[in-house]
Amino acid sequence: MSYKFCLNSFAAGIKPNPRITFTEWANKEFSLPKESTAEYGRYRSSRTPFVEEILDELSPTSPTEIVVLIKPTQLAGTTIALIFLCGIAALYPGPAWFMQPTDTMVRSFSKKKLTPTIKLISALKDKIKEPRSRQSGNTILQKDFPGGSWGLSGANAGTAYRQESIKYLSLDDFDGFEIDIEGEGSPQKLADRRTGTFQGRKIFLNSTTTRKESSNIERAYAPSSQGRYHVPCPHCGYYQYLTWGGRDKKHGIKFERDKNDLVVDAWYQCKCCQKRISESEKPWMLENGAYVHKYPERKIRGFKYNALVTPLGWINSWAYIATDYLEAVTDLRVGKPEKYIVWLNSFMSEPWETHQAVRKEDVILALRDDRPQGIVPGGDRVAALLMVIDTQDVGFWYEIRAWGYGMIEDTWQVRFGFVDTFAALTLLLLHTEYPDTDGNIHKIKKAIIDTQGHRASDVFKFCSEIGPLIIPLRGQDRQSAHIRWVKQEFYPRTNIAIPGGAMRMDTDVNYFKDKLSGKLNVAPDDPGAWRMCADCSKEWASQMISEAIDVKTQRWVPRYEGIANHAWDISGYGLALADAMFIRNWSKEPVKQEAPRRSRPAGSGWVKGSGAGVSGGGWIRR
Ligand SMILES: [Zn+2]
Repeated sequence: MSYKFCLNSFAAGIKPNPRITFTEWANKEFSLPKESTAEYGRYRSSRTPFVEEILDELSPTSPTEIVVLIKPTQLAGTTIALIFLCGIAALYPGPAWFMQPTDTMVRSFSKKKLTPTIKLISALKDKIKEPRSRQSGNTILQKDFPGGSWGLSGANAGTAYRQESIKYLSLDDFDGFEIDIEGEGSPQKLADRRTGTFQGRKIFLNSTTTRKESSNIERAYAPSSQGRYHVPCPHCGYYQYLTWGGRDKKHGIKFERDKNDLVVDAWYQCKCCQKRISESEKPWMLENGAYVHKYPERKIRGFKYNALVTPLGWINSWAYIATDYLEAVTDLRVGKPEKYIVWLNSFMSEPWETHQAVRKEDVILALRDDRPQGIVPGGDRVAALLMVIDTQDVGFWYEIRAWGYGMIEDTWQVRFGFVDTFAALTLLLLHTEYPDTDGNIHKIKKAIIDTQGHRASDVFKFCSEIGPLIIPLRGQDRQSAHIRWVKQEFYPRTNIAIPGGAMRMDTDVNYFKDKLSGKLNVAPDDPGAWRMCADCSKEWASQMISEAIDVKTQRWVPRYEGIANHAWDISGYGLALADAMFIRNWSKEPVKQEAPRRSRPAGSGWVKGSGAGVSGGGWIRR
């Protein structure tokens, strides 16, 4: 602080700090101008309660020095910045610096938001003079008040960092900052240096996130307490961070469309009780919300909320967000991610991750051989046919695979698809024969079916009807054994006993997906390849590349929310079933081992006369 500042402060007769928080102050004294926000006039923090803890941490009444906020666009971010600046001037004056990515942006902020706000606050009106009066000490980028000042600058001006020492620093829209400013290092480091000498310094970094790999705010949030605003379910009281969820998730935003594809209704499905939460419950949910910090012991306080907590009556309703989502994914499906990235960043507060080593569909399609759908490879190579079924609310995705003998674990897709009834599954399981290229008939040796979801009880009933041929399955994120057998006594979420009980197979999903990922690297002609039938669709192939490893958690996650991943899930389960059955330890029956030429009785099967059965003993290579 300069000598001149000190004199001014004494002259103005600065009162001792009143020790109230910015939240308390804002609720008494703060108003928002028409220009600044969707909801102007007298400020009430109860409208957006997720700002309260942030403002409290920014207040000198808290020992916190660094506050990091990841926020959606147009939801309280500017308001927090304005309250921070005005609160400093009104209550705890000192030198403050406010930065935005560019000079143009910060000039516009000063003229259109800061100046009109000052005029509305009686405590500041007289302290901060109009820029035009000659001795006001005020310009667009510099405003003095008794005991302190605001400096404003764009981060694109290198000089911005070489001002005198400051106590309060606010870096607004932090992801827009160039990270290497004239070779001086990161803005955060520079900022640290700038505030280094001040007791009770406050640094506020806030932004909408952008791309994971290059996001400044993600980098700043990572070492923070990582708080996210949770709200209770009005039905069961379960506290949760509202997320999009997606079509395949039980929780999240669900919506209905009319004939013209317009979203006519949107609601939230609770993660715990899965009951429908109407958007009209939002005021109660927000009022009872609270930040849950993943690392509460950390000194840097991190905060995050998304547009799903937008107050009722503002433009970003759940239906509005759903409409925007539908437009964004339409583009995404044809390989144009730009709109989706904006949607993800500005509504969901989530960064876009470009996974470098993403496998391409072509790699999967290259694993096709020349067998049509439904045909098993011949040459006496097949030890068993296994079927995997993924249960959905509307039907079942399935795949039937042939598995070879020995440790190589050769495998061939035989049939895949989607059916909508248990009767259709029964037909595929019990009453369909699968011929091989030599004309031999194979039947399904074992099947597994996913028991998660709404239809769990029906699935268990189906399993008891079919008998030991089919095993109920549950995928687990991680478990100590890759496969675990669990006795299930009752139908899920009921107290109705399963006659005789059922043995459920629990599998470590991530372990088998790791294994699958490795197997997909095996070239189609090499031993152990994950082969596809000739009719394997592009849709199936695209589902096979739907997930990627999250570098941090080492778990497989969808590449983007809402992506269909049934084929990928099914394939992982398939490996688990082959593992559970120890197929790699099976050996061919002695009779077959004594027939080295693998000759088959001629004249049977679908390939008769096709040529395949004649040359090389009916052995289709690949
Ligand atoms: Zn609930």
